[in-house]
Amino acid sequence: MNVIELFKKLLESHSVTPDDGKIFDFLEGYLDGFTFIRIDYAEVKNVFAYRRFGEGPHLCFAGHVDVVPAGEGWESDPFVATEKEGYIYARGAQDMKSGVAAFVQALKDAEHFKGTLSVLLTSDEEGPAKHGTVEVLKYLKERGMLPDAVVVAEPTCETSFGDAIKVGRRGSINGVIELVGKQGHAAYPEKAVNPVHQIASVLPKIAGAFLDEGDEYFAPSQIVITDIRAGIETTNVSPGKLKMMFNVRNSTRTDVSAIEGFMAQHLEGLNYTLRLEPSAMPFVTDAETPIVRALSASIAEVCGITPKHSTAGGTSDARFVAAYGIDVIEFGVINDTIHAPNERTSIHEVEQLHRVFGRLIERFGL
Ligand SMILES: [Zn+2]
Repeated sequence: MNVIELFKKLLESHSVTPDDGKIFDFLEGYLDGFTFIRIDYAEVKNVFAYRRFGEGPHLCFAGHVDVVPAGEGWESDPFVATEKEGYIYARGAQDMKSGVAAFVQALKDAEHFKGTLSVLLTSDEEGPAKHGTVEVLKYLKERGMLPDAVVVAEPTCETSFGDAIKVGRRGSINGVIELVGKQGHAAYPEKAVNPVHQIASVLPKIAGAFLDEGDEYFAPSQIVITDIRAGIETTNVSPGKLKMMFNVRNSTRTDVSAIEGFMAQHLEGLNYTLRLEPSAMPFVTDAETPIVRALSASIAEVCGITPKHSTAGGTSDARFVAAYGIDVIEFGVINDTIHAPNERTSIHEVEQLHRVFGRLIERFGL
């Protein structure tokens, strides 16, 4: 099988989350020379397969074989790999069976490596993602088998293949402020403490405020107010309480205590409570790490362009890898039809991606 035949084979497996569409059984036969460990949790299927060539670094390729349901609006069967004008149409063509086909084929081709090569796959990335990559990493940690570097082959390119790799993600912190005043009659403002009036002078300083200046990887972390409410929808009662909600997509330079400090400074003297809940931690893999250098060089060699380092976009399983302090990056085909009807990717891109991963294995093992 070549990489395109493998790609088509994966696309024609019905693997809607959390079903693996029997892909893992197939891969166990396909990746000969690799030791397979199956780590299943209820209906979620996971696989970790590795091959130790010798002493040296452990490079892992990671991803998911599950796809979101096809939905309406398809011009061809979403579970038949349909070729048209250089493109292959099917659910998962971009997200992310192209990536899986490219690295599986590159791993199969690898004859030499200074260290260990492995693959980590789950059938639960598009779902709750509770028993997928998280569980495999836990398993590997317990056995001292965590990789040194991980490449997640999610679609990352923007307009042309090779133009972007993802080296991290912003975090997200949700905040709720409750300001307590004293309710009263609107005709006697001197007897009430109106939290709307109190927040009015503070608001220009916090709404949309930047908490840091950003850096080469991240835009500045900014306070985005999402809700403010007070009062009881009457004109003659001055409210006793105000509730304000906000979100910060944060870089690695801003954390919960930085936001607490910022609010303490601006809300000084007011009777308030502040609740902050981080829902995702920011992470970044430095440009000078071996994996970023080796991948960038491989892309430049195959595509003739230098990829930009991005931290934009929604979450992926890379966040779970980063939490172990492992160098993790993402690189895959152009992302412009993921989760949409008529998802497709070009044959050329999949071939290029396969070549990039092949070169990466050669470079990283040097
Ligand atoms: Zn994906």
